[in-house]
Amino acid sequence: MPDTSYDSSGSGWTETTASAQTITDALPFGVVCFDVKEDGQVLIASANPMAKSIFDMQGSVVFPVALGAIWAESDLEKLSEAIRLSNSRQVSNTLEWVKTRDGHEHYLTSQLKPIFVDGNGHCQVLCTIEDHTAEKLAEQNIMHHAFHDALTGQPNRVLFRNKLEETVLNGQRSDEPFGCAVLVVNIDRFQQINESFGHSAGDRFLISMASTLRRCIGSSDILARLSGDEFAILVPDMVHIKSVVKICERIHEAMRQPYDLDGNEVFTSVSIGVASTMSSATHPEDLIRDADFAMHRAKIAGKARTEIYRRESHQVARSQFHLETELRRAVERQELQLFYQPIIDVRTSELRGFEALTRWNHKDHGYVSPVEFIQLAEETGIIVPLGRWAIEAACTCLKHWEMEVGHDKLVPINVNVSGVQFGRDDVAAVVAAALDKYKLPGNLLRIELTESSIMANPERISESLDKIRDLGVKVALDDFGTGYSSLNYLHQFPIDIIKIDRVFINQLERGNTQHKILDMIGRLARSLGHEIVAEGLEDPVHIDMVTEMGFAFGQGFYYSAPVSSFQASDMVRGKLPWSQPSP
Ligand code: C2E
Ligand code: MG
Ligand code: MG
Repeated sequence: MPDTSYDSSGSGWTETTASAQTITDALPFGVVCFDVKEDGQVLIASANPMAKSIFDMQGSVVFPVALGAIWAESDLEKLSEAIRLSNSRQVSNTLEWVKTRDGHEHYLTSQLKPIFVDGNGHCQVLCTIEDHTAEKLAEQNIMHHAFHDALTGQPNRVLFRNKLEETVLNGQRSDEPFGCAVLVVNIDRFQQINESFGHSAGDRFLISMASTLRRCIGSSDILARLSGDEFAILVPDMVHIKSVVKICERIHEAMRQPYDLDGNEVFTSVSIGVASTMSSATHPEDLIRDADFAMHRAKIAGKARTEIYRRESHQVARSQFHLETELRRAVERQELQLFYQPIIDVRTSELRGFEALTRWNHKDHGYVSPVEFIQLAEETGIIVPLGRWAIEAACTCLKHWEMEVGHDKLVPINVNVSGVQFGRDDVAAVVAAALDKYKLPGNLLRIELTESSIMANPERISESLDKIRDLGVKVALDDFGTGYSSLNYLHQFPIDIIKIDRVFINQLERGNTQHKILDMIGRLARSLGHEIVAEGLEDPVHIDMVTEMGFAFGQGFYYSAPVSSFQASDMVRGKLPWSQPSP
């Protein structure tokens, strides 16, 4: 290799500089000089070793040589065209092209620059060729991972959504009648497989599940893994829902075969939800949501089945489902609030306590009454965190009041606890933990539960109530007069207070049956040592009547509707909004 030195006088490389040929030969990218003939034929006038290797030229090749003679492939056309263009317009341009060599695609980038080689206007095109295959493959690899599930190699949720969007859009543009369907397939009891055989066995099961599903679908259908044990299938050209039902049947049939997991025969099933553009919405996101919803319905209906989403019949269930999701979130995000209704000594009109009543401060609907969500909370189990929250919130409130007005003026708060919670939760332990956390005595908290909830599980609930009363917390039997109202049971329940339902109070007239029954209940309750609270007192006549019957306490709109904790705090301080009897 000759010495290279630079002549600082400005004349450029000195004689000891390597020849242009040597430098060009050493370049790590291809350099080719093309001649363009008048008839448009492209000749290679010269090429450096890198270019020769790219073009697969033998060492013996004699230049000039026709480009087409050494390389007659279809990808040639794009390059020839660009060379001709660069030559005729005398402009530089950049070209990205693909060349297939040994069955592999090579991604090449070329800069084309026309250069005059003599004074006669003879022009050649200089072309550099850089091979970007490695970068391109890396990029493709990244793209593959972004759109595919690493475990099963199937498209992931993102790609599935893109394909669905494309299908819906194409369908809407075409004049032909169009239908497509989305199937959400969820494995029943997958958790058990994971727990019994370990996660790597679970992974193998998912891989085999993907191939089972692929075998059941058509070649134009798309299978994707949405998450954990959930797959989705897109049927892009559905003529009739029957063809989709057939796919579902094939899947259920395939699932009936045992799967061999490390020598163990594993039987499982899937629940499938189907939404099609004929039965559901046409927006891609809605289709997936409706199919998912139908899949949940299939689970509820007993698993191992298919449910097809039908807009009309699912609307009620959908709004319930929506409400359920919102309620769950409301409990988590603490969008619930306790309101407090004063409990009054009916003889003196003094404040004797509060009943805590839950309100859901909904972002769109404002305050939602518990009548609208307690039943749903019970059906879905949300009642457990909700009930725990209510006990804790009541204790927080008591603590605030204690700090504001001192311990002596404090009055107890009654919290409603559902029978469902007694069945699923250790309510006594929850109450004990809350009292302990806020350092409150048991007599400041009271638990209300309905007679019907005791009747649903008398032994278990009585046991819990005993423990609660051991904490010094009184127990009130709520809504008395609406349920079984069996006076026979009254002495058997471990209770301290009976709350007469407002429906009963509303029917009171002097001397009528309700009046006589209530009088009798009053006597019995007193003989058993129970306090009585009359609910729903709106009319002063009713207040007089319950007072005459010897009932000590009452609550109702006559005194006050349920109020916020701030207003309740004013009442604890002595600011009572209802009229006091003159001394
Ligand atoms: P409840 O425990 O019998 O509560 C009394 C209900 O009667 C309250 O309704 C109250 O606002 C209403 N009320 C009180 N005085 C009057 C009156 O003079 N006239 C009329 N028309 N109504 C009156 P609310 O707050 O809508 O609660 C309804 C039911 O929801 C409650 O009945 C209770 O069973 C349940 N509930 C409320 N909060 C909770 C809670 O945190 N947990 C549980 N498990 N249930 C709750
Ligand atoms: Mg109550
Ligand atoms: Mg009640």
